[in-house]
Amino acid sequence: MDLDAEVGVVGTGTMGSMTLWQLARRGVSAIGFEQFALGHDRGAGAGETRQYRAEQLEPEVMPIMATATGLYQQLEADSGMRLLHFTGGLTIGPPDSELITVFAEHVRAAGDEPVAISHADMAMRYPQHRLADDDVIFWHAGYGFVRPELAIVAAGTTAERLGARIVTGTEITRVEQRSGYVALHSADCRWLVRRDVVTTGPWTWNLLPELLPSGDLGRLVLTWFPVVDDESFAPARFPTFTRVADGITIYGMPQIASGTVRIGLVGPRIKFAMPDQLERVAKPHEIASIAGLVARWLPSVIPSVIRTGIHLDAYTPDGQPLIGTLPSYQDVVIAAAFCGRGFKMAPAVGAILADLATNEPSGIRLTRWAPDRFRNES
Ligand SMILES: Cc1cc2nc3c(=O)[nH]c(=O)nc-3n(C[C@H](O)[C@H](O)[C@H](O)COP(=O)(O)OP(=O)(O)OC[C@H]3O[C@@H](n4cnc5c(N)ncnc54)[C@H](O)[C@@H]3O)c2cc1C
Repeated sequence: MDLDAEVGVVGTGTMGSMTLWQLARRGVSAIGFEQFALGHDRGAGAGETRQYRAEQLEPEVMPIMATATGLYQQLEADSGMRLLHFTGGLTIGPPDSELITVFAEHVRAAGDEPVAISHADMAMRYPQHRLADDDVIFWHAGYGFVRPELAIVAAGTTAERLGARIVTGTEITRVEQRSGYVALHSADCRWLVRRDVVTTGPWTWNLLPELLPSGDLGRLVLTWFPVVDDESFAPARFPTFTRVADGITIYGMPQIASGTVRIGLVGPRIKFAMPDQLERVAKPHEIASIAGLVARWLPSVIPSVIRTGIHLDAYTPDGQPLIGTLPSYQDVVIAAAFCGRGFKMAPAVGAILADLATNEPSGIRLTRWAPDRFRNES
């Protein structure tokens, strides 16, 4: 039997591109399939920036995060592209808010003390923010943002340079476990691989509906606002932030494309059935509340949404991803449902998936992410 590659990767978005890069670095022959283009604008990894901050992650995930930074820097060196920007990060809110208490716990668990910034210092250093009287402000130097589309392109093209193949514009419609290998089918073609990794993000339920009954899709709305003085919102002057304002958690990114900042609401997501039916136009009520908060708390941002991006990510009931194999698909590794926070860990997840696809011990305890852990509940 002639194999097309040792490992196939279906979906070369966030996790798939990183997996291909990791496989190619190890000299494993690999082939990736992408229904659109590499770094396209419809996946969970689109929207110009992703927060790089770890405070909401559970202790079990921290070993993954610990390797992510080094791997992002390795990918920057391999590709020559700038991907990870450490702006530092502000965390702002009332002292008893969950955001503030969890942040402080997280920093203390890492053996440090949270660094507080006074209101007077904020007025001097970050006058872009209006503060409530009881707001507490913490600073973290290790926070910043990643450029998602660039990271996907960097991983994919570096993988190709190292010998991997990527077939774009090709939807895999069926994954078939055979004895000792896997057949991947498109509408008019078939490829054979020893093992396969499925990293199809929000589309996973289309490809493997019977395997993953307990996922749901969340529709997230990204919003961009114009600023008059774009210098004061450059990455060096306007670090990423998360804050509780009027009881609502919002976040913000510095200006990347000249003249705009991306500020949005954390959390709200609408359950959604199929990615192909996604309504990609924001409704007035979806942008009104964030515009109101911007008007109140960021006085030098013009509170008019001039650009939106609507994207999906997949979620599970316990907020943890689905990573691993299933009994009926022993040569297929699934990695999906990163619950709105997967980008920061992506290269480290790629390394774990490359381990699993090549039967290397990953060193990470994966049982809590077993893809069939909700099976009895459905
Ligand atoms: C709006 C938004 C904001 C976010 N903010 C943050 C943040 O600030 N920080 C953070 O860490 N995380 C964040 N996340 C989460 C993070 O971006 C996602 O968890 C991550 O991108 C998921 O990656 P994925 O590989 O599962 O999916 P994707 O990146 O969507 O990759 C799936 C790929 O598979 C392809 N595909 C699907 N089906 C097929 C098929 N049958 N054949 C061929 N190709 C196929 C798709 O086209 C796509 O390219 C955010 C997510 C969203 C949506």
